[in-house]
Amino acid sequence: MTDTGKKRILIVEDDPNNLKLFRDILHYKGYATLEATDGQQAVDMAKACLPDLILMDIQMPVLNGIEATRRIKEDEATRQIRIVALTANAMDGDEERMIRAGCHDYISKPIHVAEFIDRIAGYFVEAGPTEKET
Ligand code: MN
Repeated sequence: MTDTGKKRILIVEDDPNNLKLFRDILHYKGYATLEATDGQQAVDMAKACLPDLILMDIQMPVLNGIEATRRIKEDEATRQIRIVALTANAMDGDEERMIRAGCHDYISKPIHVAEFIDRIAGYFVEAGPTEKET
């Protein structure tokens, strides 16, 4: 049981620079992170690890973020996990598609670091204490 008490965030992102940026920020703020670089990995890790929050890129190999979100939300075991989409500004309509697939919210890339930190913290305030930890 490493990182006991830390919130665990699954970062789903195929761009190594973005992945590193998100990881560095989240570690700095005291979160534990898990990582997936395509949608299928995201689905598998969501089920295996039951993270407290998922940050989900959209454009990814193997399975995109929209389909990965649908699958996570269709599965009884993982549907309660809050998913926040990471959307590229250029891609019109992605936000709406991700919300329809079951995302709670979206964050536009490129991110503004201070705002990103506030938004992540806010999801945990809204969510309240985690009940699934034993
Ligand atoms: Mn991508």
